[in-house]
Amino acid sequence: MKSSVHPQQAWTVYVVWSPLLMIKGGPLEHNYRLKQFHFHWGAIDAWGSEHTVDSKCYPAELHLVHWNAVKFENFEDAALEEHGLAVIGVFLKLGKHHKELQKLVDTLPSIKHKDTLVEFGSFDPSCLMPACPDYWTYSGSLTTPPLSESVTWIIKKQPVEVDHDQLEQFRTLLFTSEGEKEKRMVDNFRPLQPLMNRTVRSSFRHDYVLNIQAKPQPSTSQVTP
Ligand SMILES: [Zn+2]
Repeated sequence: MKSSVHPQQAWTVYVVWSPLLMIKGGPLEHNYRLKQFHFHWGAIDAWGSEHTVDSKCYPAELHLVHWNAVKFENFEDAALEEHGLAVIGVFLKLGKHHKELQKLVDTLPSIKHKDTLVEFGSFDPSCLMPACPDYWTYSGSLTTPPLSESVTWIIKKQPVEVDHDQLEQFRTLLFTSEGEKEKRMVDNFRPLQPLMNRTVRSSFRHDYVLNIQAKPQPSTSQVTP
């Protein structure tokens, strides 16, 4: 696996393919293979997530980006088509120290600057999943051209807990390269957008309302859910 700072977006972990890192079931008809996962976070604990629940923000949100390995040859093709991608979203909440996440957090000082990359050993991202199986799901689009309706979003209801120091480590990353005037990588989430005509379904009784980012914002040429 490789961990890197994405020039425009976030801290991303690219996954070397493993047969174990597949998801299926729920709203998904096929097997989807994990491509990468990344985080969005705020400058302070009051915001940072891309989705909100009952209009409440979480300080960070994890996205695990999968592609349909049954219908498509590769990630790039899948990203252009309906039912091509499936993204699992997990909220991070301020609380207990997250031991497994710390292994990733420990790599952050070595990828502080833009475009830097570090390799580390095997890591099973399922340790970042909350225990509760409940989720919301909706069909959405990529945030970038060609804005295809390719993404099945699966947003877990239960957040995982991380401590303040771990969140602070995220905020030490930089949008800028070495030698440039430092710009901290914070608030790398998209603003909430109107729901438009999308339907959000939940795997549990409707006690909470998920507010989603639904309208694509053309910005970069990267395929980044
Ligand atoms: Zn994302």
